[in-house]
Amino acid sequence: MLTDDDLALRPAGDERNPWLREALADEGNPPAQTPLTGSTDAEVVIVGGGYTGLWTAYRLLELDPQRRVVLLEMDICGGGPSGRNGGFVNAWWDELALLRDLFGDERALECAGEVARSVTEIGAWCERHGIEAHYRKEGMLMASTTPLHDGAWELSTQAAQQLGVGEAYRELTPAEVAKRCRSPVFRGGALMPDAGTVQPARLARGLRAVCTARGAVIHEGTRVRRLRHEGSTVRVTTDSSAGPGEIRAGQVVLAMNAWAAGWRPFRRSLVTWSSWMVRTEPIPDLVAERLGWTGGESIIDARFTVHYFHVTADGRIAFGAGGGRPGYDGRIGRSFVDDLAAGRRAAAGFRRIFPQLRDVRLTDMWGGPIDVSADHLPRFGTLAGGRVHFGFGYSGNGVAPSHLGGRILAALALGSDEPTTRLPIVGAVPRRFPPEPFRYVGARVLREALVRREDGEEEGRRAGWALRQATRLPRRLGYRLGPES
Ligand SMILES: Cc1cc2nc3c(=O)[nH]c(=O)nc-3n(C[C@H](O)[C@H](O)[C@H](O)COP(=O)(O)OP(=O)(O)OC[C@H]3O[C@@H](n4cnc5c(N)ncnc54)[C@H](O)[C@@H]3O)c2cc1C
Repeated sequence: MLTDDDLALRPAGDERNPWLREALADEGNPPAQTPLTGSTDAEVVIVGGGYTGLWTAYRLLELDPQRRVVLLEMDICGGGPSGRNGGFVNAWWDELALLRDLFGDERALECAGEVARSVTEIGAWCERHGIEAHYRKEGMLMASTTPLHDGAWELSTQAAQQLGVGEAYRELTPAEVAKRCRSPVFRGGALMPDAGTVQPARLARGLRAVCTARGAVIHEGTRVRRLRHEGSTVRVTTDSSAGPGEIRAGQVVLAMNAWAAGWRPFRRSLVTWSSWMVRTEPIPDLVAERLGWTGGESIIDARFTVHYFHVTADGRIAFGAGGGRPGYDGRIGRSFVDDLAAGRRAAAGFRRIFPQLRDVRLTDMWGGPIDVSADHLPRFGTLAGGRVHFGFGYSGNGVAPSHLGGRILAALALGSDEPTTRLPIVGAVPRRFPPEPFRYVGARVLREALVRREDGEEEGRRAGWALRQATRLPRRLGYRLGPES
């Protein structure tokens, strides 16, 4: 049940979200980097100043500090989901069943091992560069909040055991869950130790600072409109409030996340959905006293339209809910930042899971787009012509994988063959969804059905036959989206 204060809360809309506001204030609210105007050239042009683009720039300059790397961002670096996500830095051990199914045992272990390495390396990187991103690696807990979701983790905990990495994702009893965090609706669960949390905008802005110091040329407020192959280069055409610009680049890396859905080669490979967050006032004492949640674990429930939450460095609870509205035809419109109903769903999730915090105020509400691929995993690759590389499809789980993505994309841009470029997530554009308007209608119907089904399950109501069929339709069509049964 929402409180009167909850009902008065409004989505951030065009305002910066609180993570980014804090990070920018810490930097002294610097002006954006100047937009690109006129004509220039570069060895590598990166489109997108979120984690994927920035990790790629970092890696390229780590390998050769003299390289001319130009990064183009239409907003400011960290203005997209990288500066406003839930802060979960997750490995993929909880995806082991899916990875195994798609790629086989050995390759599944390789993928999960690489993302686990990224989880650790992000922390080490922050330490090395003095970036105060509040990185903590205390593991992630999945907790069932209804008998109907019990055992949702089993396929992956069993896969972990069978593949000899049982500790990477192991089942917890209800008592073990309650010892880590008390909620009247928590039941059993599972723990993934290879998981951390960050203040997401501080990580994005820290990356921007380090990349700039290392010589990356960053133009903000610069939107890439077009790419055209011209001989041995790619012409990148931009516009900004300062006018048009263009760069001739040897290699181009597209790191546009959900916005990739608006670009022709990728249009059919993504569905865009929104995810929404709310945040409490600082309550470090109550978190300890009333919830006993002192270990720093991040927590998710077992919904497909997942609730995800963690305690921030200043003792707030940041609480998110997936399964917002889908976008139409690759457009990232206002519903991704200004959807009161979706924001309230996050608030309602918080109130249901933590009724013992009824007197605690929610102070912020914001949302953003996620780039859902057909199998819920990202893909990295190179388009025909060999000069344009892409990485997207994190499906709302990109904080750690984008670090791996940066290593992969830098290697692809340099044409180097490395273990990471041989991973099975590197290669073709992901499996395609149906064309519009079917994609939008399908995503919308699925989303409504999932929310209805999972809301009912939380109240102990098993979904009827028709609703179950609707939520399972994507799986029947070969997509790895929605519940298994
Ligand atoms: C509310 C929310 C909560 C989330 N929580 C989590 C979480 O807890 N853990 C997790 O792992 N993941 C989470 N995610 C997903 C995660 O934020 C993303 O997977 C990750 O940030 C992807 O990084 P990126 O660099 O690929 O994309 P982005 O951060 O979106 O960066 C892409 C950038 O490209 C720019 N761009 C797009 N088109 C153009 C163009 N034509 N020209 C120039 N620039 C362009 C955009 O402005 C944007 O800044 C969440 C997402 C949301 C929205």
